Amino acid sequence: TQADVATPKRTRDIIAKYGFSFKKSLGQNFLIDQNILRNIVDAAELDKTKGALEIGPGIGALTQRLSETAGRVTAVEIDQRLIPILQDVFAETDNVHIEHGDVLKLELRELMERQFAGLAGVSVVANLPYYVTTPILMKLLEEKLPLENIVVMIQKEVAERMAAKPGGKEYGSLSVAVQYYCVPELVCVVPHTVFIPQPNVDSAVIKLTLRDKPPVEVANEDHFFRTVQASFAQRRKTIANNLSAFIGKANRDKVVPLLEGCGIDPSRRGETLSIAEFAVISDALQQAGF
Ligand code: SAM
Repeated sequence: TQADVATPKRTRDIIAKYGFSFKKSLGQNFLIDQNILRNIVDAAELDKTKGALEIGPGIGALTQRLSETAGRVTAVEIDQRLIPILQDVFAETDNVHIEHGDVLKLELRELMERQFAGLAGVSVVANLPYYVTTPILMKLLEEKLPLENIVVMIQKEVAERMAAKPGGKEYGSLSVAVQYYCVPELVCVVPHTVFIPQPNVDSAVIKLTLRDKPPVEVANEDHFFRTVQASFAQRRKTIANNLSAFIGKANRDKVVPLLEGCGIDPSRRGETLSIAEFAVISDALQQAGF
C-alpha cells in the first residue's frame, strides 16, 4: 500500500514537487487528517460491491481512502493542473478513474453508467468546494441520479440549514428541498486545522440518505418548489403576504380563504410550515389555477 496523501508532510511534499499553488476561487482546501477521512468514508457505508463518485479530489486525500474501501472510484476535478498529479498519485491504483471537468456541466448520469456498471450501488463522497456546495447538491438531487447516499464535507452553517426542522431560523427552502429527496444526518463538525490552507469558515460532514420516494405526494414538483421558494421570499412576512406576491396583486383576496381552506393559519410564517403543509398549499394553489 501507498503512503497516505492526507498528512501535512506528504501534502506539502506533493505541492512542492509539482509546484502547485492553491486557487481560492476553486475552493481548494485539502484534507490532512486521517481520522476525519475515516469518518467520511465510514458514513458512506461502502464496500467492494459499491462505487464512489468523488467531486473535487484535489491531490487525492479522500480518493485514496475511497479506493481502498469501494469497488471503484470516479473523481471529477475541474482544475487541469491537478490532473497529472492525480494520475501520478494513482498510477498504480487500478480502481480509480480521474475525470477532468466541471461537475456542474458534466452529464453525470452517463458518467455513472459508464463508470459504475455492474456495481450494487453508488455514493457521492466529497470534500466539496464551498463556493458551489448548494448548486452541486441540488444538481445531484434534481437529476434524480441513482445514488444510495451523499456524504459531503460542507460549510457548517449550510449543513445546519439542510438538516433544520420547521420552527427555527435555519429552516428554509434549502431544508425543504434537501429533505424532500433525502434524510439528512449530521456526521461530525470539523475544525479548521485539518485543512491546508485553513478555510475561514467552520465545516461539517453531512450524510444525505436518498429516499425511495418523497415524504409527500405533490401534483407538480416544480410548482411545489416554487411555492416553497415564494413562501420564504421575505422571511419576516406571513405566508399570506408572501403568497400574495407569488400569485399576483390582482388575486390577493383569494390567498387568505385558500389557506384557511387548507387548514393553515394565514398569519403563520414560512419557517413554521412542514413539507406536508407546503404540499397541501401547492396543490391547492394549482387547483385554483395559480
Ligand atoms: N478532496 C480534496 C481533499 O479533501 O483534500 C480536495 C477538496 S477541495 C475542498 C475542493 C476541490 O474541488 C478542489 O480540488 C477544486 O479544484 C475542486 N473543484 C472546485 N470546483 C469544482 C467543480 N465545479 N467541479 C469539479 N471540481 C471542482
